[in-house]
Amino acid sequence: MDGYAGRILKVDLGSGGSRVEELPLGLAEEYIGGRGFAAKLLYDEVPKEADPLGPDNRVVVAAGPLSGLLVPGAGKTTFAAKSPATNGYADSNVGGHLSPAMKYAGYDAVVIRGISGEPAYLCIDDDRVEVRDASRYWGLGCFDAEERLKADLGEDFEVAVIGPAAEKLVKFACISHDYGRQAGRAGIGAVMGSKRLKAIAVRGTGGVEVADMEAYREFACQMFQACKESESLEVWQRYGTAGVTLWANEIGAFPTRNFRSGSFEGHRNLSGENMRERIVVTDKGCFACPSPCGKYSWLSRYGVHVEGPEYETTALFGGSCALSDIEDVAYANYLCDHHGLDTISTGNVIAFAIECFEKGVITREDTGGMDLAYGDSPSIFALIERIGRREGIGDLLAEGVRAVSEKLGNGTADYAIQVKGLEVSGYESHNAPSMMLAYMTCDVGAHHNRAWSITYDIETGRDTVTRDKADKVIELQHIRPLFDCLGTCRLQWVEIGFPLELYPPMVRAVTGLDRSLSDLLHISERVWNLTRCFWIRENQGFGRSWDMPPARYWKDEMVDGPTQGTKLTLDQIGQLLDYYYERRGWDDQGIPTPEKLAELDLLGVVGEDLAG
Ligand code: SF4
Repeated sequence: MDGYAGRILKVDLGSGGSRVEELPLGLAEEYIGGRGFAAKLLYDEVPKEADPLGPDNRVVVAAGPLSGLLVPGAGKTTFAAKSPATNGYADSNVGGHLSPAMKYAGYDAVVIRGISGEPAYLCIDDDRVEVRDASRYWGLGCFDAEERLKADLGEDFEVAVIGPAAEKLVKFACISHDYGRQAGRAGIGAVMGSKRLKAIAVRGTGGVEVADMEAYREFACQMFQACKESESLEVWQRYGTAGVTLWANEIGAFPTRNFRSGSFEGHRNLSGENMRERIVVTDKGCFACPSPCGKYSWLSRYGVHVEGPEYETTALFGGSCALSDIEDVAYANYLCDHHGLDTISTGNVIAFAIECFEKGVITREDTGGMDLAYGDSPSIFALIERIGRREGIGDLLAEGVRAVSEKLGNGTADYAIQVKGLEVSGYESHNAPSMMLAYMTCDVGAHHNRAWSITYDIETGRDTVTRDKADKVIELQHIRPLFDCLGTCRLQWVEIGFPLELYPPMVRAVTGLDRSLSDLLHISERVWNLTRCFWIRENQGFGRSWDMPPARYWKDEMVDGPTQGTKLTLDQIGQLLDYYYERRGWDDQGIPTPEKLAELDLLGVVGEDLAG
């Protein structure tokens, strides 16, 4: 089928064997690709209540129909698994060059099951697929592992690796690719670690057929031209995601000292402008990207290079852990990248640990004699190292903030900043109803990227809870993940100002499938509901309480900054959920109704699990 490689590779690490299956036409038509493929493959193949760290869980690596083509940002790859952090659905997207290599090798998706007896890596070299010994790479940090594998295999291999943190099953371990890009969230790296799978290396020498070459060329030129002419390009390329830091602080959305405030006194040192001046040495982009947002930095004090820090890393280590020197934040970023830790969850859990220390719930006895304090870079760096190695208190913190608070008790759950077991990312949303709702209902736990709606709160009023806020969240939850289905970056739409209408003709030119924008968004809604069904199937008693925000959001007012003294009430939060469930066609516990499942052609998919 045009636009697709037409094959799925299935690998069993238990036996070391693999087989190739034809890509079912229905899968392409009904789920598009990328995240859509991942959701369907996980739902079908992971047995109900499988241990996320056991042999039955799957790691799905998926490309989209636009991956590997001349479409801006068409190098995105989806990694997905049942999450060991949340016990629910997880996918995480990484830029770079992996999915193009997969497509050129002839695979739209790779599904990995089983556990290898010894450390292994998966080597895909066009049709040659081997599970190989990885004992010489085991224990290496992410940068070293990627470098060594490329040196041994050839620079034309694209490589995704895990670090020591994933080997030790840290619940928020990530997957690293292209020396500093990560599929970061929800611990999919730990799933690879549980399978003793150190890396996936891919070389592809084929190509991708498109349905209408002339139209494809025309739309590709239009897209690159639109990017070149965009007024936002210069600022975006200059600062990348770090360009948002000053704005976030100004509106009181920069999480500070474990989300007690939304403004940080040291924010100026952390701005994209200061970062560019002090540490950035060059820009870095993904495959086919005309708007490279990656910033490659040199940290002279520490003698290392790192890609970043991105805004989210700055928010969690700069604001929430109160590091006020950009070079310290970047070094925290480097340590996380070396160990293979998600910077968002790591910064969040450390900010929580510091608050626990302030309140006497964690003591010097627990930390091996170390004092914990906001802004204290040596102890923050030491905690990252200990988490990465699961040493001392790091072994506890490696379980993630929800599990740690359950273990510590003493009311710490009130300030464990998470939803569904995933640590909240870099937007303080005490008084941003739609952004709070986006975190509450995100289908991997508290992540911002499915519906970045905070600007809508600013536009429409931060203290009002209205139906349109639920509508906005739902609209974004269908638009933004659509890019993950297509295999492209969303940032050309978000930051460069591409109209969404550019995409359906491109999909038609590439695949031959005649899909309008509303058809594509309908598919995205199907995927959203299927991932919801996964959560419900895997967690007895799943319902409304799972969508609640951290208690801090309704118990504690903001301590300072422009939103000082404000918060939403529990009633307002309940009202938000009511609106959201009603608009989604879910019942008052957040369970999709049979009518909604039928409308999305999901009744036959979720079968007896949910069909009521
Ligand atoms: Fe990668 Fe950034 Fe370009 Fe997106 S905008 S494709 S994340 S470099």
